[in-house]
Amino acid sequence: MRRVGPPVVKLLDDDVESIKYSLASHLLYSVGKEPISATARDWFMAAAYAVRDRVSEHWMPTLNRYYAEDRKRVYYMSMEFLIGRTLSNSMINLGIYDTVKQAVTDMGVDFDEVLGWEVEAALGNGGLGRLAACLLDSMATLGVPGFGYGIRYDYGMFTQHVEHGWQVESPENWLRYGNPWEFARPGIIYPVRFGGRVVHYKDVLGHTRAQWMDTEEVMAMAYDVPIPGYGGKTVNNLRLWTAKSTREFDLKYFNAGNYIEAVRDKAESETLSKVLYPSDLTDRGKELRFKQEYFFVAASIQDILSRFRKAHSDWDKLPDKVAVQLNDTHPAMVVAELMRVLVDEYQIDWHRAWALTRATCAYTNHTLLPEALETWPVDLFQRVLPRHLEIIFQLNHEFLQEVRHRHPGDNDLLRRVSVIAEEGDRRVRMGHLAVIGSHKVNGVAAIHTGLMKSTIFSDFDHLNPGKINNKTNGVTPRRWLLLSNPGLAALISGKIGKDWVIHLDQLKKLEPLAADAEFRTQFSAVKHANKVRLAEVISQRLGVDINPASLFDVQIKRIHEYKRQLLNVLHVISRYSRIRANPLVDVVPRVVIIGGKAAPGYLLAKLIIKLINDVADVVNNDPLVGDKLKVVFVPNYNVSTAELVMPAADLSEQISTAGTEASGTGNMKMSMNGALTIGTWDGANVEICEEVGEENMFLFGLTAQEVARLRIDGYSPRAAIAANQDLKRAIDLIASGYFSPDEPERFGAIVDILTNSDHYLLTADFAGYMTAQERVDELYRDQPEWNRKAILNVARMGKFSSDRTVSEYARDIWGVPV
Ligand SMILES: *Cc1c(COP(=O)(O)O)cnc(C)c1O
Repeated sequence: MRRVGPPVVKLLDDDVESIKYSLASHLLYSVGKEPISATARDWFMAAAYAVRDRVSEHWMPTLNRYYAEDRKRVYYMSMEFLIGRTLSNSMINLGIYDTVKQAVTDMGVDFDEVLGWEVEAALGNGGLGRLAACLLDSMATLGVPGFGYGIRYDYGMFTQHVEHGWQVESPENWLRYGNPWEFARPGIIYPVRFGGRVVHYKDVLGHTRAQWMDTEEVMAMAYDVPIPGYGGKTVNNLRLWTAKSTREFDLKYFNAGNYIEAVRDKAESETLSKVLYPSDLTDRGKELRFKQEYFFVAASIQDILSRFRKAHSDWDKLPDKVAVQLNDTHPAMVVAELMRVLVDEYQIDWHRAWALTRATCAYTNHTLLPEALETWPVDLFQRVLPRHLEIIFQLNHEFLQEVRHRHPGDNDLLRRVSVIAEEGDRRVRMGHLAVIGSHKVNGVAAIHTGLMKSTIFSDFDHLNPGKINNKTNGVTPRRWLLLSNPGLAALISGKIGKDWVIHLDQLKKLEPLAADAEFRTQFSAVKHANKVRLAEVISQRLGVDINPASLFDVQIKRIHEYKRQLLNVLHVISRYSRIRANPLVDVVPRVVIIGGKAAPGYLLAKLIIKLINDVADVVNNDPLVGDKLKVVFVPNYNVSTAELVMPAADLSEQISTAGTEASGTGNMKMSMNGALTIGTWDGANVEICEEVGEENMFLFGLTAQEVARLRIDGYSPRAAIAANQDLKRAIDLIASGYFSPDEPERFGAIVDILTNSDHYLLTADFAGYMTAQERVDELYRDQPEWNRKAILNVARMGKFSSDRTVSEYARDIWGVPV
């Protein structure tokens, strides 16, 4: 039931008095407290509700407008949305930050403490999930009818503690106190089926039909989260699914008489949305993960099609009204599910259904790492989704037939492009399924897209030139500059106005100011204040005192061998040795800040965290070193930590082995906040360099081509180690137990990898990295020049707004206006 109703009545005003009224009434009516007994968390809830009311006022009108205008909708399907905190972001986007702050303060409450009580929504691992959140912000800001679909995990990303230097995970029960940003929709609930068998029969017209039967069912219930764009005019919707047992399940089990067991089984049937898999790469072969993927795909497709059917009866209109974007292969089952629903449930002709599916779907690839390319065993498919497996076999058969027709006799080509990997146990290659089921396939930075075309998808690129295209990632300047760095934002706005917030290219206007000594001084004062703020938190939380006058050298991101935190550590150890060898030498004081979570099962990554902390212990407590070098491991890296750390960075470490980091977005956030990058020719570093100029970065190391060549020729690290005194000494120190006297062999696995295989070529890049670090020191001594380059970095980061990214998707892939 949808009416194009009377004009929207504005119920709420945004002045301080009205907001105070909202705060007081929510404190009483929604939280059930009065000011005298209210805790800071109660005030947080009251503030969240007061702001949510104002978000909601624009939400329903937005959705109604889309219906009235029959707009094409974009569905962003993602297993992860790493949103972070919402209160301050919503206030910023609605333009009510200062008034709410005033209202809260007027009521005698500490505003920052209130903000601090929000538990962030960490429904993602890292870059991929954070990209999804930035794209949602930009779609809403640009007025694109963009809807997110994902899973409402009871437990999002784990909380990382550091105990005796080791990572310890604890579950993050983020919903414990209730989530003020979500709206439960118990009426929006769909069955999702698993298992069973397929029977084929002839219908009355003599067509062969498939029936998937004897299945088990789980229900998917919707929760909606409003996503306000900047300016507040558009508020889009993020719909997250939670698993519920079915009514039949309840009847069957509870009637059997064993009440307690029935409750237990009921809980078990609701495990599908319990927990986010905490691995940056995929958890191969995990049945629960496989079911999670299908669960959210099946619910979302039913929802999307039912919305389409409300306004349209002509299926040919589907691609004109619906765009489905697959964020990596996690939702690739969309391809088979859409086919199944169109063919089996709506009796649409197979080939017509296939044309509609391909015209509707598009796929974003996020990694080339072989261990991260999703494949699922045919056996598992057969057991859990037998009808989908049939459909995939049929699609693959027809696809291979076409390839065979175009390339007769090339059996090796058929083997390579097949959706089914036949080597060993047969597996479904989800990447290939996503490619054949999409009209566009994109990479996330120019170099990554180029490598996709020349490596993992080269055959597909030849078969279908132009289908693979690039959409370089971006980040939202609202959260990553305006909100997280108010000092710099105010300085910028004071000079060039506020338009940059939605037209980031405007930052270009800062360029001339790089030569202005007064502006440089102001810029450097802002950076200093951000460093003081970070130093205070580090001192409070970790008990490590750092000097804000030092160079803050920052590497924060998931811990992974390919990201090469170890290369950073090797530099730290060399620096430490040099200082000890010559304590009177004049060095640029540095604080090396490292943060990031390791997947709980990734033992080597956890050992790297331990090494960082052991090195920190030795370095930080060495009186010969003092302020010359400090090492800090920041625990529990998440969006809120990023918002604190990014604005305080002088140096941004982006040192992955060339060809391994698809894009990176941390690199963009830090550069946008006035850090200089030390980095390799990888991911978006390449494009950042194009924009800011090579002379304003510290680039080093092998190119992706050189890496590929070295690996083909067979790289052995021993020669590189023997040839470099610093490197040899650093590895020897680790091997000797210098940093782990209580257990000298502790880091044997790390030493072994560095000296024997070194797949990620740390030893090959070490010398170049050291030289680049020397250039860093040299430049930092010249503060005016350092600041000049840092300002130029900020001024030239316009390209890396996710608004630009979304505009390109809208134009080239989705076919929607911006
Ligand atoms: C931006 C961001 C990332 C991605 O960082 P990379 O350096 O690109 O890997 C990961 N986690 C969080 C919390 C982020 O904010």
